[in-house]
Order: sequence, then C-alpha cells, then structure tokens
Amino acid sequence: MTYVINEPCIGTKDSSCVEVCPVDCIHPTPDEPGFAEAEMLYIDPAECIDCDACVEACPVDAITAGDQVPPEWEKYIQINAAYYEQVSS
Ligand code: SF4
Repeated sequence: MTYVINEPCIGTKDSSCVEVCPVDCIHPTPDEPGFAEAEMLYIDPAECIDCDACVEACPVDAITAGDQVPPEWEKYIQINAAYYEQVSS
C-alpha cells in the first residue's frame, strides 16, 4: 500500500509532511526545483513505508492511507503515482 495526498493540498503545499517523512518520499520539497510550479505535493508509492506520520502533520487533512481514500478523491491515487512516472522517465 501507500499513502496518498489528496485535493486539499492543491494550492496549500504546506510541506509539514516533508519534514516528518522518515524516507523522504514526498516531493517536490520546498528546496527542490519545480516546487513553485507544482500544484501540490505527491507521495512516491514505491518508497512510502506506510508509517502514518504525514497524516497528523498535514494541517489540511489532505493525506490518507491508500485504502482509505474517499471515493471523490480516488483519482489522486493515480495522480500521486503519475508524478513519479513522469520524473523518472
Ligand atoms: Fe512518508 Fe510515512 Fe507518509 Fe509514507 S506514510 S509518505 S513513509 S510519512
């Protein structure tokens, strides 16, 4: 499984989650190129270890476990994954 960042992150990009993630799988970080242009932050599904730390850190409750994504946000599972397919290609 993986955790997923959902719609409330759009335009928020608080990045508290980046600071608590033990495996640095949330990008772009504020010091990475592309942060200013990014619509939101994304969790790398291949790297996330399901530790749950980011859920509490997020001030807008944007993050859920992959199997708890509300139906209206299900597309964000693919949106998070797609960001890393694009970066690695
Ligand atoms: Fe990082 Fe843990 Fe959140 Fe996964 S659940 S993105 S490993 S903080």
